[in-house]
Amino acid sequence: MSQRTSVISMANSILIVGGGTAGWMTALYLSHKLSSNVNISLVESQDIGTVGVGEGSTPYLKQYFEALNIDEAQWMQATDATYKSGIRFDDWSHESGYESYFHPFFNAFDKKPAEMFFYNCGLRRRGFDADANPDNYFTAAYIAEQFKSPKLINPQDTYVDYAYHFDATKLGHFLRDKAKANGVKHHIANVTSVGTDPSGQIKSVMTDTGLKLTGNLFIDCSGFKSLLTQKTLKREFTSYQDTLFNDAAVAIQTPPDTPHKFKTQTRSKALKNGWMWQIPLTSRWGNGYVYSSRHTTALHAEHELKAELGLAPDADVQVRHLNMKVGRVSEHWSGNCIAIGLSQGFIEPLEATALMLVQFAIQNLSEILETGNFSNVDIRHYNSEMNRLFDGVKDYVSLHYLLNTRKDSQYWIDAREEIQVSENLKFLIKAWDRGEDFEAALKKVESELVYLRPSWYCILSGMGRHPERLQATSKAGPVKISKDYCNRITQKYFSDNIVL
Ligand SMILES: Cc1cc2nc3c(=O)[nH]c(=O)nc-3n(C[C@H](O)[C@H](O)[C@H](O)COP(=O)(O)OP(=O)(O)OC[C@H]3O[C@@H](n4cnc5c(N)ncnc54)[C@H](O)[C@@H]3O)c2cc1C
Repeated sequence: MSQRTSVISMANSILIVGGGTAGWMTALYLSHKLSSNVNISLVESQDIGTVGVGEGSTPYLKQYFEALNIDEAQWMQATDATYKSGIRFDDWSHESGYESYFHPFFNAFDKKPAEMFFYNCGLRRRGFDADANPDNYFTAAYIAEQFKSPKLINPQDTYVDYAYHFDATKLGHFLRDKAKANGVKHHIANVTSVGTDPSGQIKSVMTDTGLKLTGNLFIDCSGFKSLLTQKTLKREFTSYQDTLFNDAAVAIQTPPDTPHKFKTQTRSKALKNGWMWQIPLTSRWGNGYVYSSRHTTALHAEHELKAELGLAPDADVQVRHLNMKVGRVSEHWSGNCIAIGLSQGFIEPLEATALMLVQFAIQNLSEILETGNFSNVDIRHYNSEMNRLFDGVKDYVSLHYLLNTRKDSQYWIDAREEIQVSENLKFLIKAWDRGEDFEAALKKVESELVYLRPSWYCILSGMGRHPERLQATSKAGPVKISKDYCNRITQKYFSDNIVL
């Protein structure tokens, strides 16, 4: 029997191990997309629980729900979700005029002012005094600043990218209920051992309730434990720690403001040994501090976060401390086992990309399974695509650290001077710094990048990566025109309803 046919006949009984966001997103998606002859089961431990964080998305999440015909209002209301226009980065740079910038999600209105921004960036990086703060050229920054929603008053007007914030636990429950209604079998038990055959295929998992769960395709969504992929199959893990230092986080939830008026943005503020997130939900704030345990202790980090939130060091609030394993496996799909979620890897939460990678993994897998006609070539392709996506996101995230200009703690100095920089990043930064054709540079490495052109300009210019000495110029694009335009568009087209 050829390899091709043996793989095909395997995918009619799928067991998912782990019921965090990754597990239930996978279960729901596959139960919609695959034939009803495919049995899907999920086993999760109630004792271990889920990671319970992960409350910001990228715009791709919209497509996930659209693909399942789930109404935005329905899932948003069930998860206390709010809209997200982008991310505000505060205090990452101490360059005058560039202490804060907004990484926007883009929309069709931005086309004209964005061209002025790219042009002004070109002037400034060649040493001319042109305004190049992205805040002045993208409507998303205005939408957030004016407490508006990234939803159009009239949806027919144009195309707008936006993302979401949501309660991670409630999202998990929403997905679980939908998946179960769609026929996914649910087991609550602790997996105690995993059975393999001599060729390294997984045969079954055993639980503490005496169950022996079998399947011919196993999806490892067991979180950082990576029970099947790393623990059982011993798949190689490539750490990103020489590039991304942060390996721990502390999270604290705080009550909503009264009245609960918030900007439709994630705030990412640089602190002494990392950065903090502030995420608005309809019911509360999600806050956290992502830091390097080499540079500070969990207790210091907790106190620093509490101080930022206006809480006393001994304030009686629920505090969650988490460790993060930063990196990825090389073989996300190995034999009859596919790792999805934290079990396959994680690139710290800056830019909120983890669920986007989960979604890409699920969609790629589903497309392959749907054809019912795949081979080892497809598996190799799947793995190299997942590696490209992980490494591409890692590059963009690491650039925040590399570009920081803070000198006030060893952490920020190390983050700038000690991190391993990929060849692609070195190449792009060199082109930027030398005032070379940046468009051509982006084009050259395009196939390995995950982020698009505007995001590269926004981060490089937003963090103030420009020459110190600037000459006056009369050629700069008139920033006032762009600001007036963004203001006008925001007021005319975007809704005041920040909550559904
Ligand atoms: C500090 C922090 C902030 C983050 N912020 C974001 C963000 O803003 N945006 C974003 O997209 N992502 C974010 N993430 C990542 C996001 O939280 C995860 O990608 C997402 O929650 C998916 O996690 P998971 O399902 O892979 O793992 P988990 O939630 O850990 O789920 C693992 C599952 O496996 C089960 N399990 C484990 N062992 C066993 C066993 N022996 N038997 C049975 N079941 C078992 C657990 O019970 C659980 O159900 C963040 C992560 C961290 C650490």
